[in-house]
Amino acid sequence: SSISPFLDSGLVTTPDTLALVHLSRDNIQPVYLREGSGSVDGYAEGAVINTRFGSFPHSTLINKPWGSQIRASIVDTGSRGRKKKVEAEDNDTEGTGAGSGAGAGAGPAKDLKTASSGFIHLLPPTPELWTTSLPHRTQVVYTPDYSYILHRIRARPGMHIIEAGAGSGSFTHASVRAVYNGHPRTTEDRRGKVWSFEFNEERYHKMKQEIEGHRLDELVQMTHRDVYNDGFLVDGQSPEAECVFLDLPAPWRALPHLARRKPTPSQLASGGLDCLGGSDSEWKSPLRADRTVYLCTFSPCIEQVTKTVEIMRRLGWMDIETVEVAHRRINVVREKIGLNMPTERGVNQVPGSVAEALRKLKEVECRSKEFHSQDQDTDTDTKINEDEEALNEAGQGTEDAPMAKPWTAGRLVHRTEAELKTHTSYLTFAILPQEWSEEQEAAAFEKWPCGK
Ligand code: SAM
Repeated sequence: SSISPFLDSGLVTTPDTLALVHLSRDNIQPVYLREGSGSVDGYAEGAVINTRFGSFPHSTLINKPWGSQIRASIVDTGSRGRKKKVEAEDNDTEGTGAGSGAGAGAGPAKDLKTASSGFIHLLPPTPELWTTSLPHRTQVVYTPDYSYILHRIRARPGMHIIEAGAGSGSFTHASVRAVYNGHPRTTEDRRGKVWSFEFNEERYHKMKQEIEGHRLDELVQMTHRDVYNDGFLVDGQSPEAECVFLDLPAPWRALPHLARRKPTPSQLASGGLDCLGGSDSEWKSPLRADRTVYLCTFSPCIEQVTKTVEIMRRLGWMDIETVEVAHRRINVVREKIGLNMPTERGVNQVPGSVAEALRKLKEVECRSKEFHSQDQDTDTDTKINEDEEALNEAGQGTEDAPMAKPWTAGRLVHRTEAELKTHTSYLTFAILPQEWSEEQEAAAFEKWPCGK
């Protein structure tokens, strides 16, 4: 099949492809662009997208550069032989198609004219946008967490990742992009793969459908599986994974399956061996033998972390570390002083002299101080960057060379979001070093300059 729009969206929108329709900052809707009407994968299809910003026939969205702003259309659905003008914002979409929200489909739109107001933007699918727009079936892993996790587990082109459980597929989409190897250099280079396991049957089917719809099925192997009992081999085949991510209620129950050799009873004093089956010599590991394996488990409670860490230690995992990502948005702005001086009527004027500019600067500074002292009451943390302040002063210029650098004019201030995003989960990282065989040791010793 052709390449997934998540990996290469091309320059323009095409039919039968997923587009993310940006209605507002908090409202992005996934839509399959169709030339005719129809229903695919159970969401967001049809010939017309009806929103509170107006109606958008798919024909007006196809073959457009990604990022385009598209204005609402006047749509004649032909259903009652009358035209309905679709206006912006408070528009009542009744009559333009069944239901509401993006994707509710009517028949093919006829006789289109562009309405004067109401618009959307067409965005290409990315894992980040998918995370904010995907149909939630479970708690999901969000971008600040998964970007850090993928970095720590060394996910890079050509790697194989084991993921359990798949849930709503938020992490799956981010991880497949991280490991996708679009340009293998040798025939041995791997293309990268996500081995994803989900125990809930309904979620598994939904995910499989989505992965196929997004044309990621060659890179994501979905398996319906209880990994606590049945481990990570797929039809007896090992995923040969170098990276593992466990978002499960009891990750410690999956860990015994992620060993290079069959765990011994003393390693698992509290039980858990029954499900491992087979003899030591029959043991097949889902992990890549000739590489260090990087693991992350994602658990909301510290009790889960302590249990997981105990089993990690017993099974030989090393460099164990638990962290929490405290995501905080920091807004950095320059206060508008210096070049552009507001007048009474709000028209900006260039100050006549440096002296005048400095006087205005002081005024603004005073107002700014007052403002920030009020701010402390409202829990907003505002600080002035001293270095930048010095830089700004340099930017004010001299009489000979007045304000040569307007972009450095004004104080650089940063405001931290008052409210810290609530706790998501503890991320526990560990590594399982590569095991060296006698032959590998000997070969390495041969190559080593001091070896002889
Ligand atoms: N990481 C996912 C995402 O970003 O969308 C969310 C995962 S969700 C919190 C946890 C998932 O693990 C659930 O869908 C659940 O059905 C699945 N699960 C729980 N126990 C499991 C098991 N023993 N084997 C496989 N999956 C399991």
